Amino acid sequence: MYYLLTATFLRSRSKQFVKWLASLKSSPLQKSTSDLIKKILTNFAPDINRKAYFFFCEFCRQTGLLVSIGVPGGPVFCVSCGEASPIDSFRVNISRANRLVVLASNAELDSETKSLLLEQAVVMIVTSLEILFRKTYAIIQDSKHVIYGESILTNIYNETRNEFLNFGVTNVKFKRDMGINIKSEIGDANFRLFSSVYSKRHIIIHNASTIDNEYIDQTGCSKNMLKKRVPLTISEVENVISKLDLLLDILNPLLGISILNLIESRILISPRIKTAKAKKEKIPTP
Ligand SMILES: [Zn+2]
Repeated sequence: MYYLLTATFLRSRSKQFVKWLASLKSSPLQKSTSDLIKKILTNFAPDINRKAYFFFCEFCRQTGLLVSIGVPGGPVFCVSCGEASPIDSFRVNISRANRLVVLASNAELDSETKSLLLEQAVVMIVTSLEILFRKTYAIIQDSKHVIYGESILTNIYNETRNEFLNFGVTNVKFKRDMGINIKSEIGDANFRLFSSVYSKRHIIIHNASTIDNEYIDQTGCSKNMLKKRVPLTISEVENVISKLDLLLDILNPLLGISILNLIESRILISPRIKTAKAKKEKIPTP
Protein backbone atom coordinates (compact mmCIF):
# COMPACT_ATOMS: atom_id res chain seq x y z
CA MET A 1 0.00 0.00 0.00
CA TYR A 2 1.24 3.51 -0.88
CA TYR A 3 0.79 6.44 1.51
CA LEU A 4 1.21 9.91 0.03
CA LEU A 5 3.55 11.90 2.26
CA THR A 6 1.68 15.03 3.27
CA ALA A 7 1.83 17.14 6.41
CA THR A 8 -1.62 15.77 7.41
CA PHE A 9 -0.50 12.14 7.01
CA LEU A 10 2.76 12.72 8.88
CA ARG A 11 1.03 14.58 11.73
CA SER A 12 -1.26 11.56 12.19
CA ARG A 13 1.72 9.25 12.88
CA SER A 14 3.87 8.81 15.97
CA LYS A 15 7.00 10.91 16.49
CA GLN A 16 9.16 7.78 16.34
CA PHE A 17 7.77 6.95 12.91
CA VAL A 18 8.32 10.50 11.64
CA LYS A 19 11.85 10.41 13.04
CA TRP A 20 12.51 7.11 11.31
CA LEU A 21 11.28 8.52 7.96
CA ALA A 22 13.48 11.60 8.40
CA SER A 23 16.46 9.34 9.11
CA LEU A 24 16.15 7.72 5.66
CA LYS A 25 17.68 10.80 4.06
CA SER A 26 20.04 12.00 6.76
CA SER A 27 20.68 11.61 10.46
CA PRO A 28 17.83 13.39 12.34
CA LEU A 29 18.96 15.66 15.10
CA GLN A 30 16.89 16.30 18.21
CA LYS A 31 14.14 18.22 16.46
CA SER A 32 10.46 18.74 17.11
CA THR A 33 7.92 16.66 15.15
CA SER A 34 6.85 19.67 13.06
CA ASP A 35 10.51 20.38 12.17
CA LEU A 36 11.01 16.74 11.20
CA ILE A 37 7.86 16.85 9.03
CA LYS A 38 9.15 19.98 7.28
CA LYS A 39 12.50 18.27 6.74
CA ILE A 40 10.87 15.17 5.20
CA LEU A 41 8.67 17.19 2.85
CA THR A 42 11.58 19.45 1.84
CA ASN A 43 13.78 16.45 1.14
CA PHE A 44 11.31 14.29 -0.77
CA ALA A 45 8.54 16.54 -2.12
CA PRO A 46 9.98 20.07 -2.44
CA ASP A 47 7.60 21.20 -5.22
CA ILE A 48 4.12 20.40 -6.59
CA ASN A 49 5.52 18.24 -9.41
CA ARG A 50 7.05 15.79 -6.94
CA LYS A 51 4.94 13.37 -4.98
CA ALA A 52 6.59 11.27 -2.31
CA TYR A 53 5.03 8.00 -1.18
CA PHE A 54 5.94 5.80 1.72
CA PHE A 55 5.13 2.22 0.80
CA PHE A 56 4.85 -1.12 2.46
CA CYS A 57 3.97 -4.14 0.34
CA GLU A 58 1.50 -6.40 2.14
CA PHE A 59 2.72 -9.34 0.05
CA CYS A 60 6.54 -9.23 -0.08
CA ARG A 61 6.81 -6.88 2.96
CA GLN A 62 9.20 -4.55 1.15
CA THR A 63 9.30 -1.05 2.66
CA GLY A 64 10.56 2.11 1.00
CA LEU A 65 10.04 5.56 -0.41
CA LEU A 66 8.97 6.29 -3.95
CA VAL A 67 9.21 9.76 -5.46
CA SER A 68 7.28 10.41 -8.66
CA ILE A 69 8.09 13.48 -10.73
CA GLY A 70 5.35 14.91 -12.95
CA VAL A 71 3.51 11.55 -13.22
CA PRO A 72 -0.29 11.80 -13.10
CA GLY A 73 -2.12 9.40 -10.75
CA GLY A 74 -0.63 7.41 -7.92
CA PRO A 75 1.40 4.18 -7.97
CA VAL A 76 -0.58 0.94 -7.91
CA PHE A 77 1.86 -1.95 -8.13
CA CYS A 78 4.64 -2.91 -5.72
CA VAL A 79 7.99 -1.83 -7.20
CA SER A 80 9.54 -5.04 -5.88
CA CYS A 81 7.12 -7.94 -6.50
CA GLY A 82 4.56 -6.33 -8.82
CA GLU A 83 1.51 -7.12 -6.62
CA ALA A 84 -1.17 -4.43 -6.42
CA SER A 85 -2.79 -3.47 -3.15
CA PRO A 86 -6.28 -5.11 -3.09
CA ILE A 87 -8.08 -1.75 -2.97
CA ASP A 88 -6.14 -0.38 -5.97
CA SER A 89 -6.71 -3.59 -7.90
CA PHE A 90 -10.41 -3.45 -7.02
CA ARG A 91 -10.75 0.14 -8.27
CA VAL A 92 -9.13 -0.76 -11.61
CA ASN A 93 -11.53 -3.72 -12.05
CA ILE A 94 -14.60 -1.64 -11.18
CA SER A 95 -13.67 1.05 -13.70
CA ARG A 96 -13.44 -1.75 -16.31
CA ALA A 97 -16.82 -3.17 -15.24
CA ASN A 98 -18.25 0.34 -15.54
CA ARG A 99 -16.96 0.46 -19.11
CA LEU A 100 -18.91 -2.73 -19.89
CA VAL A 101 -22.09 -1.10 -18.53
CA VAL A 102 -21.47 1.97 -20.71
CA LEU A 103 -21.06 -0.31 -23.74
CA ALA A 104 -24.31 -2.13 -22.82
CA SER A 105 -26.11 1.25 -22.87
CA ASN A 106 -25.57 1.54 -26.63
CA ALA A 107 -29.09 1.58 -28.15
CA GLU A 108 -27.85 -0.08 -31.35
CA LEU A 109 -26.85 -3.32 -29.59
CA ASP A 110 -29.06 -6.42 -29.76
CA SER A 111 -30.53 -7.75 -26.49
CA GLU A 112 -28.23 -10.82 -26.33
CA THR A 113 -25.09 -8.65 -26.51
CA LYS A 114 -26.50 -6.25 -23.90
CA SER A 115 -27.27 -9.15 -21.53
CA LEU A 116 -23.82 -10.59 -22.09
CA LEU A 117 -22.09 -7.28 -21.28
CA LEU A 118 -24.16 -6.76 -18.12
CA GLU A 119 -23.54 -10.34 -16.96
CA GLN A 120 -19.81 -9.96 -17.45
CA ALA A 121 -19.92 -6.66 -15.54
CA VAL A 122 -21.64 -8.47 -12.63
CA VAL A 123 -19.09 -11.31 -12.72
CA MET A 124 -16.26 -8.76 -12.64
CA ILE A 125 -17.80 -6.69 -9.82
CA VAL A 126 -18.68 -9.63 -7.55
CA THR A 127 -15.44 -11.54 -8.16
CA SER A 128 -13.48 -8.35 -7.42
CA LEU A 129 -15.48 -7.88 -4.21
CA GLU A 130 -14.88 -11.49 -3.19
CA ILE A 131 -11.12 -11.11 -3.74
CA LEU A 132 -11.07 -7.73 -1.97
CA PHE A 133 -12.73 -9.14 1.16
CA ARG A 134 -10.57 -12.29 1.12
CA LYS A 135 -7.29 -10.40 0.66
CA THR A 136 -8.24 -7.77 3.26
CA TYR A 137 -9.05 -10.55 5.71
CA ALA A 138 -5.75 -12.38 4.98
CA ILE A 139 -3.63 -9.19 5.23
CA ILE A 140 -5.19 -8.13 8.54
CA GLN A 141 -4.90 -11.59 10.08
CA ASP A 142 -1.29 -11.82 8.87
CA SER A 143 -0.45 -8.35 10.25
CA LYS A 144 -1.92 -9.30 13.64
CA HIS A 145 -0.11 -12.59 14.01
CA VAL A 146 3.21 -12.22 12.18
CA ILE A 147 5.17 -9.05 12.84
CA TYR A 148 8.77 -10.14 12.21
CA GLY A 149 8.67 -13.71 10.94
CA GLU A 150 7.80 -15.05 7.54
CA SER A 151 4.40 -13.86 6.31
CA ILE A 152 1.51 -16.35 6.42
CA LEU A 153 -0.66 -14.21 4.13
CA THR A 154 -0.63 -16.72 1.25
CA ASN A 155 -1.54 -19.59 3.62
CA ILE A 156 -4.52 -17.66 5.05
CA TYR A 157 -5.59 -16.52 1.58
CA ASN A 158 -5.48 -20.07 0.19
CA GLU A 159 -7.22 -21.61 3.22
CA THR A 160 -10.16 -19.19 2.94
CA ARG A 161 -10.81 -19.86 -0.74
CA ASN A 162 -14.42 -21.00 -0.13
CA GLU A 163 -15.31 -18.62 2.69
CA PHE A 164 -16.02 -15.45 0.72
CA LEU A 165 -18.17 -16.79 -2.12
CA ASN A 166 -21.39 -15.57 -0.54
CA PHE A 167 -22.08 -12.09 0.88
CA GLY A 168 -23.92 -13.42 3.95
CA VAL A 169 -21.02 -15.74 4.87
CA THR A 170 -18.56 -12.88 4.29
CA ASN A 171 -20.52 -10.81 6.79
CA VAL A 172 -20.51 -13.63 9.37
CA LYS A 173 -16.72 -14.07 8.97
CA PHE A 174 -15.97 -10.35 9.33
CA LYS A 175 -18.31 -10.06 12.31
CA ARG A 176 -16.81 -13.07 14.08
CA ASP A 177 -13.11 -12.53 13.33
CA MET A 178 -12.83 -8.75 12.85
CA GLY A 179 -15.69 -7.40 14.97
CA ILE A 180 -17.13 -5.59 11.90
CA ASN A 181 -20.84 -5.96 11.16
CA ILE A 182 -21.06 -5.10 7.45
CA LYS A 183 -24.86 -5.50 7.44
CA SER A 184 -25.45 -2.90 10.14
CA GLU A 185 -22.78 -0.58 8.63
CA ILE A 186 -24.39 -0.46 5.17
CA GLY A 187 -28.05 -1.02 6.13
CA ASP A 188 -30.50 -3.83 5.29
CA ALA A 189 -31.49 -2.55 1.82
CA ASN A 190 -27.88 -2.33 0.60
CA PHE A 191 -27.07 -5.68 2.20
CA ARG A 192 -29.95 -7.26 0.21
CA LEU A 193 -28.69 -5.54 -2.96
CA PHE A 194 -25.19 -7.04 -2.62
CA SER A 195 -26.56 -10.46 -1.58
CA SER A 196 -28.75 -10.45 -4.68
CA VAL A 197 -25.92 -9.58 -7.05
CA TYR A 198 -23.72 -12.32 -5.49
CA SER A 199 -26.54 -14.82 -6.19
CA LYS A 200 -26.76 -13.57 -9.77
CA ARG A 201 -23.01 -13.99 -10.24
CA HIS A 202 -23.36 -17.59 -9.03
CA ILE A 203 -26.13 -18.42 -11.50
CA ILE A 204 -24.30 -16.70 -14.40
CA ILE A 205 -21.13 -18.71 -13.76
CA HIS A 206 -22.58 -22.06 -12.67
CA ASN A 207 -25.83 -22.38 -14.62
CA ALA A 208 -25.36 -20.53 -17.92
CA SER A 209 -27.34 -17.54 -16.50
CA THR A 210 -30.47 -19.71 -16.17
CA ILE A 211 -32.55 -19.64 -13.00
CA ASP A 212 -32.83 -22.99 -11.18
CA ASN A 213 -34.69 -24.17 -8.07
CA GLU A 214 -31.70 -23.48 -5.82
CA TYR A 215 -31.68 -19.81 -6.92
CA ILE A 216 -35.45 -19.54 -6.30
CA ASP A 217 -35.07 -21.07 -2.81
CA GLN A 218 -32.16 -18.77 -1.90
CA THR A 219 -33.52 -15.50 -3.28
CA GLY A 220 -37.29 -15.99 -2.95
CA CYS A 221 -37.86 -14.99 -6.58
CA SER A 222 -41.04 -16.16 -8.31
CA LYS A 223 -41.26 -19.84 -9.36
CA ASN A 224 -42.43 -18.57 -12.76
CA MET A 225 -38.80 -17.52 -13.33
CA LEU A 226 -37.59 -21.16 -13.33
CA LYS A 227 -35.43 -21.88 -16.42
CA LYS A 228 -35.53 -18.23 -17.51
CA ARG A 229 -32.48 -16.04 -17.97
CA VAL A 230 -31.49 -14.18 -14.81
CA PRO A 231 -32.84 -10.61 -15.19
CA LEU A 232 -30.33 -7.74 -15.20
CA THR A 233 -30.86 -4.10 -16.06
CA ILE A 234 -28.41 -1.28 -16.67
CA SER A 235 -29.86 0.75 -13.76
CA GLU A 236 -29.49 -2.24 -11.41
CA VAL A 237 -25.78 -2.71 -12.21
CA GLU A 238 -25.19 1.06 -12.08
CA ASN A 239 -26.88 1.08 -8.67
CA VAL A 240 -24.56 -1.70 -7.41
CA ILE A 241 -21.50 0.20 -8.68
CA SER A 242 -22.70 3.41 -7.00
CA LYS A 243 -22.97 1.59 -3.65
CA LEU A 244 -19.46 0.06 -3.71
CA ASP A 245 -18.01 3.09 -1.89
CA LEU A 246 -20.01 2.01 1.18
CA LEU A 247 -17.88 -1.14 1.33
CA LEU A 248 -14.63 0.69 0.49
CA ASP A 249 -15.35 3.13 3.33
CA ILE A 250 -15.27 0.13 5.70
CA LEU A 251 -12.34 -1.80 4.19
CA ASN A 252 -10.00 1.07 3.23
CA PRO A 253 -9.38 2.45 6.75
CA LEU A 254 -9.36 -1.06 8.21
CA LEU A 255 -6.60 -2.11 5.83
CA GLY A 256 -4.67 1.17 5.99
CA ILE A 257 -4.58 1.24 9.80
CA SER A 258 -3.64 -2.45 10.11
CA ILE A 259 -0.73 -2.00 7.72
CA LEU A 260 0.49 1.21 9.40
CA ASN A 261 0.32 -0.49 12.81
CA LEU A 262 2.32 -3.41 11.46
CA ILE A 263 4.91 -1.09 9.89
CA GLU A 264 5.30 0.91 13.09
CA SER A 265 5.61 -2.29 15.12
CA ARG A 266 8.32 -3.59 12.80
CA ILE A 267 10.20 -0.28 12.76
CA LEU A 268 9.78 0.84 16.34
CA ILE A 269 9.63 -2.29 18.45
CA SER A 270 12.35 -4.19 16.65
CA PRO A 271 15.29 -2.25 18.23
CA ARG A 272 13.77 -2.80 21.68
CA ILE A 273 13.61 -6.53 21.07
CA LYS A 274 17.22 -6.55 19.94
CA THR A 275 18.19 -4.61 23.09
CA ALA A 276 16.24 -7.01 25.27
CA LYS A 277 17.95 -9.98 23.64
CA ALA A 278 21.38 -8.39 24.10
CA LYS A 279 20.67 -7.74 27.77
CA LYS A 280 19.41 -11.26 28.26
CA GLU A 281 22.64 -12.69 26.83
CA LYS A 282 24.67 -10.72 29.38
CA ILE A 283 22.78 -12.18 32.34
CA PRO A 284 25.07 -14.82 33.87
CA THR A 285 23.60 -18.27 34.27
CA PRO A 286 22.98 -19.04 37.95
ZN1 LIG B 1 5.74 -6.54 -3.04
